[in-house]
Amino acid sequence: MFILYGRRSSKLKDQFKLEHCTCPNCGVNGTFTVSTFGSFAHIFFLPFFPLFKSRTIECDNCLRTFTEKEITPEMQDKLQRGIQVYPGKRPLWHGCGCLIIFAFIAMGIIGSFLGDSNPDEDYDYEEDPMEETYQDELNIDIDRTLSHPTKSRDALAYHLAHCFDYELTEELDRDQMEFLTRENGNKLLVLVKMKEIKRIERKERKQLLGLIKNCLAEEIDLNDYELYIGVHGKITMMVASSPTERDDYGLIADDDILLPFYEDEADESDINMLLDTTVIE
Ligand SMILES: [Zn+2]
Repeated sequence: MFILYGRRSSKLKDQFKLEHCTCPNCGVNGTFTVSTFGSFAHIFFLPFFPLFKSRTIECDNCLRTFTEKEITPEMQDKLQRGIQVYPGKRPLWHGCGCLIIFAFIAMGIIGSFLGDSNPDEDYDYEEDPMEETYQDELNIDIDRTLSHPTKSRDALAYHLAHCFDYELTEELDRDQMEFLTRENGNKLLVLVKMKEIKRIERKERKQLLGLIKNCLAEEIDLNDYELYIGVHGKITMMVASSPTERDDYGLIADDDILLPFYEDEADESDINMLLDTTVIE
């Protein structure tokens, strides 16, 4: 069991403008939009407690974004005055993990006092025992994605990688993207790992599904396959789609919807063979 923890941030409500400032980038005397981000510590993506705040200052003319350290003294002065009016109040949920955990502990204590003569009775017997195995297989496949798949081993992934290279903006580092495709009967699994997915706006992330399909259509007839597509970020699945479901909100996708791909697997030997080639970073 490993614990996922770290730091994330979210944009806070308060936004304000700096007026009549000269942009260090484009030289235009105009307005700037100040956005405040509140970062918080999270455990398993549950906001736990608030950390520091940071601000970005965007030129409304050239759209260049500056940090607080990069702006001119003139802007700095107006920024400080703006902060007095719009301090950037945090939402309550930045610290909600603490509240939830206290609630659980309290419930646990109350529960143990009330007592339960047969705790096994309400065990979740409905869970499919295979589901865990499929999840393991998916995790292995996610680990096996390669930034430079070869034509001989995974021709579709090879094609995808080049298609992405051609279609995506230059700002995204190609070496930070990894690809894998697998077939199971008429089911096709396509996994793309994009460590820099944070650089794509959340709302635009779902378009990656369309891009993947377009790239695939150059090589295969999509009507011949049931498509299972997962776009993985640095840590979790971000966008996923299956023949029957779609999770394309763009933040954390439910990768359960990809698991039916692994049902009725004809031959597992290819997994074992490929396991030998897993790349350890
Ligand atoms: Zn500018």
